[in-house]
Amino acid sequence: MPVLSVVVPCYNEEEVLPKLYPELCRVAESMGELTFEFDFVDDGSSDGTLEILRRLSREDGRVRFTSFSRNFGKESAMLAGLRMSTGDYTVIMDADLQHPPGMLREMYDAVKDGEYDVCAARRVKREGEPKFRGAGSRLFFRLMNAMSDTEFVDGATDFRLMRRGVVEAVLSLPEYNRFTKGIFSWVGFRTKWLPFVSAERAAGETKWSLAGLIRYSVDGMLAFSTRPLALSSILGAISCAVALIVMIVTVVKTLVFGNPVAGYPTIVCLILLIGGLLMFFIGVLGQYMSKTYLETKSRPAYVVRETEEGLK
Ligand code: UDP
Ligand code: MG
Repeated sequence: MPVLSVVVPCYNEEEVLPKLYPELCRVAESMGELTFEFDFVDDGSSDGTLEILRRLSREDGRVRFTSFSRNFGKESAMLAGLRMSTGDYTVIMDADLQHPPGMLREMYDAVKDGEYDVCAARRVKREGEPKFRGAGSRLFFRLMNAMSDTEFVDGATDFRLMRRGVVEAVLSLPEYNRFTKGIFSWVGFRTKWLPFVSAERAAGETKWSLAGLIRYSVDGMLAFSTRPLALSSILGAISCAVALIVMIVTVVKTLVFGNPVAGYPTIVCLILLIGGLLMFFIGVLGQYMSKTYLETKSRPAYVVRETEEGLK
C-alpha cells in the first residue's frame, strides 16, 4: 500500500492539536487505500504542544514527532518535517485547520495517476483575517513576480501534496535562507492548483505579527531576486546622465550669457538626494551580503532536542 506522510509544523498549538488529530484520523479512515504517517514538528513551543505529541506518539504508532531546541520558524519546521517523511506521497499542512484535511482526497486523486506531481492549494478568500493582510499578500505576490524570474502564483499556500521525487528535489537544495514558496516554484514539476477558501483558525492565535510578515516578504525577495542590486546601477547611471546635462547647461549659461548661478538650495537638495540614494543602496548591498554571510557559515536550519524515540 502506498504511504502518505502528513507533515504538520506546530508552534504553541496545544489548543488546536486535539481538534486536528481526530480530523486526520477520520480522513485516514476514509482513504483506506493509503497507509498514513503523521510527522509533527514542534517548533520550540512553550506550551503543552510537546506533551500532546508525546502522548499521541505513545498511543498511535502512525504518529512521529521532532521537537526543536528552540523556535526556529515555520520554514525550518517544514524542512524538518520533509526530512522526517518517508511516504511515497507527502503533504504539508498547518496545524490550525485552516488547511482542511478534507481536501486530501481530492489532492491525492490529482497526483496518484502520475498526471501531476504536485497538488497545491491556492487561497482565493480569507475568512476572519484583517483586510490589510489580504491586500498586503496580493501586493507581495505582484512585487515578487515583477522582481523574480521564479513564478509566484497569487494566494499559493504551503498546503501541498507531492510525490516522493518532488520532496527529494526540494531537500536537495542546500540553502540556509529557505523560502519554501520560492523553492517549490523553482523545482518546477507539474502542479495542479486547487482553489479553496481558508477557514478561520480553529483556536489559538496567528503566530505572525505585521513586522514578522514584512521581514518574511523581504527575506523572500532577497532569496529569489537580485534585481534590487541591478536597480542601483540603473539609478546611478540615470543620475550621472542628468548631472552631465546640468553641467553642460551651467557652463554654457555662464560663458555665453555671463550669468552666474545662485544655487545654494539646489546644491543642498542634490547632496541630500544623492546621499540618500547612496545610503539606501549600500543598505541593499548590505542585506545581500548579510545573507551571503549566513549562507557561508552553513549552520543547520534547526537543532533537534527530542524525537518520538527519546532525547537527542
Ligand atoms: N508555525 C511554526 N513556527 C513558527 C510559526 C508558525 O511552526 O514560528 C506553524 C504554526 O504552528 C501553524 C503554521 O505554522 O501550524 C501556520 O501558522 P499560523 O496559523 O500562525 O499562520 P497564519 O495561518 O496566520 O498565516
Ligand atoms: Mg493559520
